[in-house]
Amino acid sequence: MSLHDDVEEVLLDADAIANRVAELGAQLTADFGDRDPVLVSVLKGALPFLADLMRAMEMPVSIDLMEVSSYGAGTETSGQVRILKDLSRSIEGRHVIIVEDIIDTGLTLNYLLKYLADKAPASVRIVCLLDKPARRLADIPIDYRGFEIPDRFVVGYGLDFDERYRNLPYIGVLKPSVYGGAPPEG
Ligand code: 5GP
Repeated sequence: MSLHDDVEEVLLDADAIANRVAELGAQLTADFGDRDPVLVSVLKGALPFLADLMRAMEMPVSIDLMEVSSYGAGTETSGQVRILKDLSRSIEGRHVIIVEDIIDTGLTLNYLLKYLADKAPASVRIVCLLDKPARRLADIPIDYRGFEIPDRFVVGYGLDFDERYRNLPYIGVLKPSVYGGAPPEG
């Protein structure tokens, strides 16, 4: 049985994602040219985006990875964030580009922005592939955005439902039968 059988609708196909990521990479290349930025990404959902975006940037970059988990029940983001994996190198004096998969309530990124700002970087910018503004609770300055999407729970291209579907090459919505009821929030 195929993963694709669980998908009700494809919102963004692989070509649309690839084209937009190439555009974002070109924009970042133009804006950051010789500033040797560090791309800071949050595991695990942003991995495919980071991998494609960094190869669309024709300039020297470094990368670093963090892993965070939000406290609270279920998939609802609580805003309280626990750091499971921290940066591996100092970002003091560096130009940081946060590479995120999706911004929903914005609470996770709101926390991360403050956390990174405390480490005295030269600048912090945000690039996110998907912006879901309908449920935003924290005002996040998104500098580069791939797509704005409606308030639906999406999977694929890194995004999971219960750790599955991250390897779908497109972004889609699952059939309700997969959730056994209402789609998860967040
Ligand atoms: P926020 O703190 O902005 O509410 O949530 C950020 C995190 O919630 C994302 O990095 C992602 O892990 C998860 N999330 C939010 N919306 C979705 C969605 O539609 N699908 C999936 N798979 N995860 C989501």
